[in-house]
Amino acid sequence: MIPFLDLQKINAQYADELKQAASEVIDSGWYLMGEKTKGFEKNLASYIGSSNAIGVGNGLDALRLILKGYIELGFMKAGDEILVPANTYIASLLAITDNKLKPVLVEPNLSNYNLDIDLLEKHLTDKTRAIMVVHLYGQVCWNESLVALAKKYNLKIIEDNAQAIGAEYNGIKTGALGDAAGFSFYPGKNLGALGDAGAVTTDDDKLAEVIRALGNYGSRKKYVNEYQGLNSRLDEIQAAFLDIKLKYLDQENQYRRQIASRYLNEIKNPQVILPFPSNTSFKFDDNEEHVWHLFVIRHPKRDQLQEYLAKNGIQTLIHYPIAPNKQRAYKHLNYLDFPITNTIHQEVLSLPMSAVLTVKDVEKVVKVINGFE
Ligand SMILES: *Cc1c(COP(=O)(O)O)cnc(C)c1O
Repeated sequence: MIPFLDLQKINAQYADELKQAASEVIDSGWYLMGEKTKGFEKNLASYIGSSNAIGVGNGLDALRLILKGYIELGFMKAGDEILVPANTYIASLLAITDNKLKPVLVEPNLSNYNLDIDLLEKHLTDKTRAIMVVHLYGQVCWNESLVALAKKYNLKIIEDNAQAIGAEYNGIKTGALGDAAGFSFYPGKNLGALGDAGAVTTDDDKLAEVIRALGNYGSRKKYVNEYQGLNSRLDEIQAAFLDIKLKYLDQENQYRRQIASRYLNEIKNPQVILPFPSNTSFKFDDNEEHVWHLFVIRHPKRDQLQEYLAKNGIQTLIHYPIAPNKQRAYKHLNYLDFPITNTIHQEVLSLPMSAVLTVKDVEKVVKVINGFE
């Protein structure tokens, strides 16, 4: 059986270092807002190339806190609109609606499944305050016209970087491209904690300071509360684990690129739509715009293919089976129809992908997919 993702095996690679770090934290008697968190924040900021990194409880909170911070700073208020891709994990929307802001959904494109930047302008109103780009599946969503549009209309660009840590656009890392970025260190992400964890990066020192207070009950000084904040802080033990795993992130992402390269070159089933089908001259294995959080193919008979793979011992997942605007949680958005988003949701399938997938596993996946009719 080839599992979709073997978390035990991933962390076993670093077990000695992780156990050592855990004992240090246990023995220190200090579990929150201490040296481990400070150290990881410093290393994360330097890795991303941004002036500030703030550890928070999880990726959803990272995004919630960015928007809350902009509200406290007077840049946006309840009822304002945030552009966001229709095809994303629901957390991107939850962060928006939790702040009483309005998500304005924009269709993705079929060449990379990211937000179609060309469609943004027609969705603008006098209430639009920000664009939340999601670097979906680990692939950068960015171009010069996005930057120009944001500048022209004085919009913030918020990156949902939960899936793309380590990816770069023209040598700049995601998380340092926009005005602020939210990271998730959910165990299955490319940089995974051993529990929930997240972070915000930004070059905006004022925003950073407000977010740090907001994640700590709205307080900068103990028992003095400036804002109605949350409790969303990074645990010392998770920070210690993440600091260790951060050292190996580039190497793991590079290995993911090698797997992607093999899938792309060797999957020959004519019914399978591979990522970037149109751009075959690209050197996928060192394409730094992609960190292959997920390797997502499309197939017109997706459910049958998934069943066939399962019968042959290959576990796959669907990211995602139901679009946010079709969820009961967003009943008032259910009437909206996004044909491209629908196609994606009906046809996508995520193949096994991780830093511990073996060459033999990859060969088996390729062989089984090529045998599906
Ligand atoms: C994982 C994820 C999140 C949420 O992160 P959590 O740490 O699970 O709260 C947000 N957006 C996207 C695109 C994600 O993949």
